[in-house]
Amino acid sequence: MLRTCTWLFKGFIDFFFPPLCAACGERLGEDEEVVCDTCRQSFTRVPKPLCLRCGAGGVKAKQKDCKACPEKPVFFDLARAVVLFRGSAREAIHTLKYKTRPEVGPVLGRPMFLYLKRELGDETFDAIIPVPLHSSRERKRGFNQAELVAEEMARLAHIPLIPEVLVRIKSTKQQTQLPPEKRRQNVAGAFALRIAEPILGKTILLIDDVYTTGNTVNEASRVLKEGGASRVCVLTFARV
Ligand SMILES: [Zn+2]
Ligand SMILES: [Zn+2]
Repeated sequence: MLRTCTWLFKGFIDFFFPPLCAACGERLGEDEEVVCDTCRQSFTRVPKPLCLRCGAGGVKAKQKDCKACPEKPVFFDLARAVVLFRGSAREAIHTLKYKTRPEVGPVLGRPMFLYLKRELGDETFDAIIPVPLHSSRERKRGFNQAELVAEEMARLAHIPLIPEVLVRIKSTKQQTQLPPEKRRQNVAGAFALRIAEPILGKTILLIDDVYTTGNTVNEASRVLKEGGASRVCVLTFARV
């Protein structure tokens, strides 16, 4: 009975407010969910070969560091992104974060899980940690987009999600608004460990929605490594 009511209610809502693609804003087809097929197909993979460290595309084969790597020292073991931050991928992330549509999170988490299986299949991860937001920003947005993405990945990959380990203790400016030389400084001291025990000697998969300069995930990786994690790999949905 309850289920029938839910369906009726959904039908009613869909009739008056047809669901729109989170990327292009067009009306979704019957079999389409959150992001339309055309937009999904236009997501562009990061072109290989990749920098073995930061995952930047279009470098020399087997290059271990590149111009795009964060300023040294680099604390993560490798970073990878599924697609380039442009076009419909950029729009979908924008809709998730700024138009507050949390249902976009799992849509980004699924291709990340497939990427994990396809490209990082040799790695065994003990736990997944999303890059945390400062509590004031999370309260304003109502959720942490990285956690929504990470939740879906953890569910599909059967890897424990431990968001409680890492906290953001400093409210930082958005990295994109800063010149490159200020970005490292902006995130310095932004994170702290709440509990170290779950990461001791473990291989951690650190998740974020977008990789911009790598300074944010590098700072989070520093805290995890200093807290006892043996290996930290970063996976983001998109890369600038
Ligand atoms: Zn679309
Ligand atoms: Zn690099």
